[in-house]
Amino acid sequence: MRISKLVGAVAVALAVTMSVAGCGSRGGAATDTAAAPADSVVGISMPTQTSERWIADGANVEKSLKDLGYKTDLQFANDDIPTQVSQIENMLTKGAKALIIAAIDGTTLTDVLAKAKEQNVTVIAYDRLINGTPNVDFYTTFDNYTVGVQQATSLLTGLGLVDASGTKVEGKGPFNVELFAGSPDDNNANFFWDGAMDTLQPYLDAGTLKVPSGQTKFEQAATLRWQAPVAQKRMEDILTSAYSSGAKLDGVLSPYDGISIGIISALTSAGGYSTDSLPVVTGQDAEKGSAKSILAGEQYSTIFKDTRQLGTQAVKMVDDVLKGKEPEVNDTETYDNKVKVVPAYLLESVIITKDNVQKELVDSGYYTAADVK
Ligand code: BGC
Repeated sequence: MRISKLVGAVAVALAVTMSVAGCGSRGGAATDTAAAPADSVVGISMPTQTSERWIADGANVEKSLKDLGYKTDLQFANDDIPTQVSQIENMLTKGAKALIIAAIDGTTLTDVLAKAKEQNVTVIAYDRLINGTPNVDFYTTFDNYTVGVQQATSLLTGLGLVDASGTKVEGKGPFNVELFAGSPDDNNANFFWDGAMDTLQPYLDAGTLKVPSGQTKFEQAATLRWQAPVAQKRMEDILTSAYSSGAKLDGVLSPYDGISIGIISALTSAGGYSTDSLPVVTGQDAEKGSAKSILAGEQYSTIFKDTRQLGTQAVKMVDDVLKGKEPEVNDTETYDNKVKVVPAYLLESVIITKDNVQKELVDSGYYTAADVK
């Protein structure tokens, strides 16, 4: 399943790269461009510019669309729901034929997407599922449950409970860990949490992992809008309430690099941990700051989700629909938005530690060597 998905993802990424470059398809770039529905505007609605990944997502999607001859309207909503709704309304007023949306809160777009439907506009949910509406046509994202499994696996590897081959190592621990989750209004946060907790639960049940704060429920661990200061404050509070007797914290499950930075700040300031003695801290998105932190021996791991592939996939879906073709999907079961199961194309993610920053992030051209120095 994983391998076939990977092969599918690679095949699509290659096919799209070749078609965008005009070097593989018989028609070539000129034909593709000429076939773009004339003057079509595609709206791109991204949640925030406070995180590098969404800036890169917006830029990748915009460039790929322009390469195919589309006009674009790229907006960032500053993590503010009314701003995102009014930006999407504006895109509809400007006559957008398709929308690519990474929602701030997946439940707040029902009314504006009803308007989109009236205007026969195609809606692609980008990375985050849009919930509670029939008016979302396709979804492209990573395999979010697997991202959670990977986060927990890297926590176990960092603690030495699992070896490099993925085999359980007996006779270690117990270790003290604390658990952080993402924003409760982002559908992905539940998938990451479920994947991580299914992986950690046997260790918690066996007492190999202990959570001294006792905060093991999603609602207790959630971090509204994925904000670093919220996570930093919670980490400080936990250190005060559960570690003041001198207990050592060995690991932290963190679902996103921004949150990891907040956690590490709390540990080094309020917690008195030095770089050498920091717990194993996970992450997600392979942001430049975290790649540097990993190489410096601070953050232990992150999850690389290649936003170039995601952008390419979303643009391919839009282009297919606007040219009357059925977009390729590889999952028609997982993403139920409470009104319908949204057909999805899932991509593969990769665990990053200091051992593969160079190979996965630099050699792949995602970053330059200077970016992560
Ligand atoms: C994305 C993650 C990201 C998080 C915070 C999630 O919806 O899937 O990649 O870390 O939002 O921006």
